[in-house]
Amino acid sequence: IENLQYQYKNTSELTIKDFSLNIEKGETIAILGESGSGKSTLLRLIAGLEIPQSGLISINGIKFVDDRTFVAPEKRGIGMVFQDYALFPHMTVEKNIKFGLRSMTRRKKQERIEEMLTLVNLADYKKRYPYELSGGQQQRVALARALAPAPSLLIFDEPFSNLDASLQVKIRDDLRAILKQTGITSIFVTHDQADAKALADRIVYIEKGVVQHIMSLNSGVKSPKVYC
Ligand code: ATP
Ligand code: MG
Repeated sequence: IENLQYQYKNTSELTIKDFSLNIEKGETIAILGESGSGKSTLLRLIAGLEIPQSGLISINGIKFVDDRTFVAPEKRGIGMVFQDYALFPHMTVEKNIKFGLRSMTRRKKQERIEEMLTLVNLADYKKRYPYELSGGQQQRVALARALAPAPSLLIFDEPFSNLDASLQVKIRDDLRAILKQTGITSIFVTHDQADAKALADRIVYIEKGVVQHIMSLNSGVKSPKVYC
């Protein structure tokens, strides 16, 4: 991500100001900041749900956005899990996961669904509907659905915010295991320093759309310029 600038219509200030970040393959990045600091906006820009006024986003050398380019969200190969999980209420767990799978034979799809359900520890729940699941289970279905098409990047907006404290810790542990097992590159937004520290390789602190500092959990606090 290079020099990203974004301003919502009818607002007087930039929401994202000159944001740059280089993320390594397999890295987990936590974005931490106060309410209104621009965390969700940043994820929406990466996902292609908003178009920046200027700047560049690319993954594996493929440009998604710059002055002349805009790649649609569904063509970016990004798995998304947002705060409200957004499962389809009228579809079983299995059908929810199947939804994002394209250009695969029926058998391959079924194999992939089974594989994902085992990964999130819900193998016995495939015929259930979302309303028949707990909040944490719904969240794991959302995660399975996001991971099923083998995205090159997984993004999460406040993955734990709707859960009670004990479930938050459980999901955090599950997620840590899944990130490790899949080796997927991921970015997640949180308010919670403990979540960020438990899961991330680096924490990006943002304030009013500006990177304040980046903390590497292996080698201490670094100036953002080192990474940008
Ligand atoms: P939270 O932690 O509360 O989820 P956030 O860091 O995710 O906050 P954003 O949702 O990215 O914050 O919002 C950043 C700023 O942009 C806020 O001041 C918000 O009011 C503003 N904003 C968000 N969506 C819109 C919109 N559609 N139109 C105008 N302004 C918006
Ligand atoms: Mg938000």
